[in-house]
Amino acid sequence: MVAPDRIAESGRVSGPHGVSEEDWAAARNRMVIDQLERRGLRDEELLRAFRTVPRHLFVESDDPYGDRALAIPSGQTISQPYVVAAMAAAARPEDGYRGARVLEVGTGSGYSAAILAELGAEVTTMERHPSLGAEGVDRLRRAGYDGVSVVVGDGSLGWPDGAPYDAIIVTAAGPSVPKPLLEQLSPEAGRLVMPVGTREQQWLTLVQRHGSAFTRREVEPVVFVPLVGEHGFEA
Ligand code: SAM
Repeated sequence: MVAPDRIAESGRVSGPHGVSEEDWAAARNRMVIDQLERRGLRDEELLRAFRTVPRHLFVESDDPYGDRALAIPSGQTISQPYVVAAMAAAARPEDGYRGARVLEVGTGSGYSAAILAELGAEVTTMERHPSLGAEGVDRLRRAGYDGVSVVVGDGSLGWPDGAPYDAIIVTAAGPSVPKPLLEQLSPEAGRLVMPVGTREQQWLTLVQRHGSAFTRREVEPVVFVPLVGEHGFEA
């Protein structure tokens, strides 16, 4: 599979090696079977979203559907597809994503925000790097997800204007779950997923809120780029 060199006005992709929409769709199907279903993900809505969202519009790579994280500008990464899926599955609100209010911290390429939007959520995504935020807006628009709100700022403080959130997904690693995010989680079964640990290694951690009570469970070991901010790591 080769990277397209140009994204046409229509949003359709063409390139010197002629990657067709059918080829990209086939790559997405393989990704879903080999990387998600094979690792036990069975939620049909979630799998449909991964079969639909054009990951190749969010990252410049000759293997955009490969089973790994990839580099994006500003020294950041777009997460491995399985990790994006595992986080979305863990944070899934009791009644599903359709119509749910979701905050993502760490827009990066915009891909995981697009997955959440494809699932029917009302998505706000925050990014600390202004250039990534601006590129994220462009990419989301080009892929047809212009309903996603992109906010440039310190996501460790959350975005109180949109609270309470049914789900909060933090795609960068912090030493602990930021208190403002816990406060912005819906008291009615809000779910938050975030990598928590050191800069080198973390546990994907699920927090569930019921009223003023919070329960916490470690899901799986992961390695993420750091959450840099007031309630994260220092720059
Ligand atoms: N979700 C992204 C995607 O689909 O491409 C991947 C995100 S990448 C692993 C983590 C992102 O978190 C980086 O873009 C980084 O700049 C951002 N980040 C780190 N600290 C942040 C903060 N305090 N507020 C907002 N974004 C932050």
